[in-house]
Amino acid sequence: MRAPDASARALRTPGAIPVLLYHAVMDDPPSWIAEFTVTPRDFAAHLDAIVAGGRTPITVSTLADHLPAASPGHRTHRPTTFPSAPEASPSASLSASPPPPPSTPAPPPAPAPPVAPLPPRPVVLTFDDGFADLPGPTAEALAARALPATAYLTTGAITPGRTSLLPPAPMMRLAQAPALESYGMEVGAHTVTHPPLDTLRPAALLGELRASKQALEDTLGHEVAHLAYPHGYNSRAVRRAAASAGYSSAVAVRHALSSAHDEPYRIARLIVRRRHTVADVEAWMAGAPARGERARVAPFPDSPATLGWRLYRSARARVRGPEFAG
Ligand SMILES: [Zn+2]
Repeated sequence: MRAPDASARALRTPGAIPVLLYHAVMDDPPSWIAEFTVTPRDFAAHLDAIVAGGRTPITVSTLADHLPAASPGHRTHRPTTFPSAPEASPSASLSASPPPPPSTPAPPPAPAPPVAPLPPRPVVLTFDDGFADLPGPTAEALAARALPATAYLTTGAITPGRTSLLPPAPMMRLAQAPALESYGMEVGAHTVTHPPLDTLRPAALLGELRASKQALEDTLGHEVAHLAYPHGYNSRAVRRAAASAGYSSAVAVRHALSSAHDEPYRIARLIVRRRHTVADVEAWMAGAPARGERARVAPFPDSPATLGWRLYRSARARVRGPEFAG
């Protein structure tokens, strides 16, 4: 490992695309999410730094339109034998009542038609889970600066009468999802119950992916094509299931900058933590890491530590069932 002697300037990577992951924006968050919560005051300062950074804010769908499709030479290519026809029986406990038949399952994403080139130096803002501030002051702060964003909603956590693995917190309601769009936000899915997807059996995995997509589509009246993996946890099987469920992109975490060469089913994001400062946001906008963090730009393969952690969590989930992994 190299000595940490390079200046921030030397760590800047041309072509790096920061995709920021925010959770709640509030002053008094529940302790379990406090580490990943920023205050409204800090959030406003972050947004001002993003605007001043001179990048072009885009949604995940715009970024995804420009990423390389899963193809030979890419790590997300499909095996020649497809595992036992994904039979996501709607009997999976998660899907309530299946939708009326005319809609067949969404086909796997087709090659995108030619699109305008990616704007120079893009930045993407994302918000996970659907906390109560999102359709209110957070969306207003974004709209006041004409910043588009993508919100990934955990449908079980925001639907009255449903539950999720997320501990209690002030949440928005599913019925407010259209309001997010009216502010200029894009809405994506973040599963029903927020499980670590890479520990689920195939039927439960597809049930989570399909039921959350369907609930959002029923509420919004149009297709929901983008997914965020809870905790960022994914595997080759999870990425394949996301495509099979009809998503055209999925964001992970990876604690790294993304790029125009990133993988469409595990787009790298940077988690914004309470401790991150405006200087850290400025570093990200410059294509550099936050202070004290590593300079990585996706795509890159999973580390042995990531693979080992996944094996451990999978074994534990077999014994204890899915649990909140935060
Ligand atoms: Zn989440």
